[in-house]
Amino acid sequence: MDTPIKIGRAPAHDEPIQHLKPPVDETTLAHKRLLDGAFWHRIPAYRSVDEQTFLDHSWQAKNTITNPQKLLFALQDLVPQDFYDDVASGFAKAPMSIRVSPYLLSLIDWANPYTDPLRRQFVPVASRLLPDHPKLTLDSLHEQEDAPVPGLTHRYPDKALFLALDTCPVYCRFCTRSYAVGVDTDSVDKVSLKATEDRWARAFQYISERPELEDIVVSGGDSYQLKARQVSLIGNTLLEMPNIQRIRFATKGPAVMPMKLLTDHEWLDALTNVVDRGRKLHKEVVLHTHFNHPNEITAITKKALDRVFERGIIVRNQAVLQRGVNDTVETMQLLVKRLGYCNVHPYYVYQHDLVKGVEDLRTTLQTSIDIEKSVRGTTAGFHTPTFVCDAPGGGGKRVIHSYEHYDRETGVSVFTAPSVKPGKFFLYYDPIDTLSPEMQKRWMDPIEQEKMIEDAANKAGAKLDARAAASSIQRL
Ligand code: SF4
Repeated sequence: MDTPIKIGRAPAHDEPIQHLKPPVDETTLAHKRLLDGAFWHRIPAYRSVDEQTFLDHSWQAKNTITNPQKLLFALQDLVPQDFYDDVASGFAKAPMSIRVSPYLLSLIDWANPYTDPLRRQFVPVASRLLPDHPKLTLDSLHEQEDAPVPGLTHRYPDKALFLALDTCPVYCRFCTRSYAVGVDTDSVDKVSLKATEDRWARAFQYISERPELEDIVVSGGDSYQLKARQVSLIGNTLLEMPNIQRIRFATKGPAVMPMKLLTDHEWLDALTNVVDRGRKLHKEVVLHTHFNHPNEITAITKKALDRVFERGIIVRNQAVLQRGVNDTVETMQLLVKRLGYCNVHPYYVYQHDLVKGVEDLRTTLQTSIDIEKSVRGTTAGFHTPTFVCDAPGGGGKRVIHSYEHYDRETGVSVFTAPSVKPGKFFLYYDPIDTLSPEMQKRWMDPIEQEKMIEDAANKAGAKLDARAAASSIQRL
């Protein structure tokens, strides 16, 4: 006889609910505790700035810090003179020019400037710089190689990257596009990608002539810097192309100057109109942004992103994993949860690109692998970022766990991209200072470098051959 199935008795309405585990103390939900109030009054130059002025995006742009003298003027005696000297020589060596909004400056803990995660991303200090890995190049993703017209990279079959301009509301030390973004520095003469309608016309013509292109990323530089009429022009021109199905406007703006979304009505209206028009045409227009650390999200950010959410605009985040910034499980979990609280999808976390002058910010591939494992499971799957390595040499984004070979001793990992560039290997290199002294010595020798690279490629090739042989045996 079948054992009768026991069905639990539904509790009566007046019975207390039996919790299976105790509820968490609400005060421990750190992702909901956002910095609020006049926090900018901590900065001597902004002590008398009222809220209305601070929230004005034009005031933020006008008072942006662009050189060590302006930094000194803003911070005065908050940091000692030797720190300013360190910054001045950091600037001289950096491939990126500096640009820091008053908002961002106010979020940095100037009592601990060397360890602050925001200072590390935006303000270079010479004393902390490390020598570049010998395999670093200026355009490590080879965006220019895959550009049929200046400022348009067509690498993936159905997607293109349109670099509409070469300026941003902030300049990040670690920018992948340091070959073009910002003004020339002592160490780099930039490729010019000015926001001219002539250059754009050639990009539009190319896009319209490629029926396989469906998805355009409008970046730069940064879409925040586009004028409202330029947002409309680019958005509407692309929407009118029958082949285009998806448009993403990329901007770091919400992370570094969220008040623009609250006070630049013309810009937000222009974006909203493109999004609404796209929806009517059954095409998706979204905003892609770039928060790296939970401290970048304040009560102002929440208010600004709520405004964007009310308008039905989808926002996705692309973070970069960085040493001393967000390379701990706790920080990354908090970032992911805080983004979710602001209705931002934490879409990607990138392995740091092989960018010149920021070796102190790169992590090993293993760091990324370890953090990914602990972030997955913290929240819903659709709010969990995919950790990727943008394969140097133009392989595109590869999931961090999908390497063909990873030698943790030499720090060389090998990726393939069968649907982007079949038959090619793409190599990523862990930062030299994380390797053993013996390995660091080998990397100083060009002959040894080639041996280590060849060895990694051979092992990846042997693994692929073994896999292909195994699958052909299975098919027999
Ligand atoms: S906002 Fe983006 S494009 Fe501009 S400097 Fe930063 S990383 Fe580069």
